[in-house]
Amino acid sequence: QALYEVKERGRNGYAFYRPVEHRRIVIEQDLPFAIMRGQFYLCYQPKVRLTQGRAMGIEALLRWRHPTLGEIPPLDFIPLAEESGFIFEITLWVLERACRQVKEWERKFPGLKLAVNLSPFLLNRPELVEHVKRILRETELVPDRLILEVTESGLMENIETGRHILTELQQLGVQAAIDDFGTGFSSLAYIRNLPVSLLKIDRSFIQGIAENSKDATIVDTIIHLAKSLDIEVLAEGVETESQVVLLSQMDCDYAQGFYFSRSLEAEKLQQWLEKYNRSAAF
Ligand code: C2E
Ligand code: MG
Ligand code: MG
Ligand code: MG
Repeated sequence: QALYEVKERGRNGYAFYRPVEHRRIVIEQDLPFAIMRGQFYLCYQPKVRLTQGRAMGIEALLRWRHPTLGEIPPLDFIPLAEESGFIFEITLWVLERACRQVKEWERKFPGLKLAVNLSPFLLNRPELVEHVKRILRETELVPDRLILEVTESGLMENIETGRHILTELQQLGVQAAIDDFGTGFSSLAYIRNLPVSLLKIDRSFIQGIAENSKDATIVDTIIHLAKSLDIEVLAEGVETESQVVLLSQMDCDYAQGFYFSRSLEAEKLQQWLEKYNRSAAF
C-alpha cells in the first residue's frame, strides 16, 4: 500500500514503480475472468425524495473483490473494460443481477426504481436494446422501474447514437438519466431534445453550496431550468444536513449521498430501506 503512494509522489526508483505497474497488469489480465470467477458483486446506494423523505430508488454500483489485490474501485477497471470491450458483458451482468434483486424486493418496496450505469461506449451498440428487453422479460421487472444513467460528457460525445438508443429504450418504457451533470460542458438547451427524465447534478457542484454562494446559484439555476423542461433533478454526493436544507429550499426533487447512506450490499440496503421508509411514514 505504502509503495503505491510513493509512485503518486513521482520520480522514485524503478523498484518503487513496479508494484503499481504490476497492479495494473494484474487488473488487465484478470478482468476477462472476473465474472466467471464470481469476483464481481453489487452494492446499491439509495436515492431519496427530498419532499417526502422516502426512498425513490437505488443505484447499482459494481464492485470487484480480487483475491490478491483486494477491493478494486470501479474507476480502476471500468476504463479498461471500455477499451477492451468487456464492458458490454459486464453491463449485462450488472443489469441481470440488479433487475433480479429489485424484482425480489417488489413486495417489500413497491415502486422502487433501479438505476444502472451505462457506459457511453455502449451507445454505439444498438443490440444493447434487445438485451435490455430480454433481461426485463426474464426477470419480470416492469420496464418503467429501470433507469439507465449515462454521463453528460459520454452522451455529448455520442450525441446521435445516444439519442437513437435512448429513444428505443424509452419506447420500451425504460427511463434515462444524465449522470455527473455540469462536468460535460453541454447546455440544457441541448438536453431538451433528448429523451431524458432525470438530471443528476455532479457532486463537485453540490460540495460547496453551503459555503459558496456562486455554487449555490449555479445549482439553483440548473434545478429551475431542468424543471422548466419537465426534467426531474437529483443532487449527487450530498454529505451534510445544511446541503439537504438548501436543496429542499431550491425545490430539488431527489438527493443521493453519504449523508443518507453509502453504497451497501443487498442485505444491508434492505435493512436501511426498511428503517428509512418506516421513519418517513406519515
Ligand atoms: P457515479 O455513477 O457518478 O456513481 C457515484 C459515485 O459517487 C459512487 O462511487 C459513489 O460511491 C460515490 N458517492 C456517492 N455518494 C457520495 C458522497 O456523498 N460523497 C462522495 N465523496 N462520494 C459519493 P463508485 O461506486 O466508486 O463509482 C464510481 C463510478 O464508477 C460511478 O460514478 C460510475 O461512473 C462507475 N460505475 C460504477 N458501477 C458501474 C457499472 O456497473 N457500470 C458502469 N459503466 N460504470 C459504473
Ligand atoms: Mg451513476
Ligand atoms: Mg454520478
Ligand atoms: Mg460521479
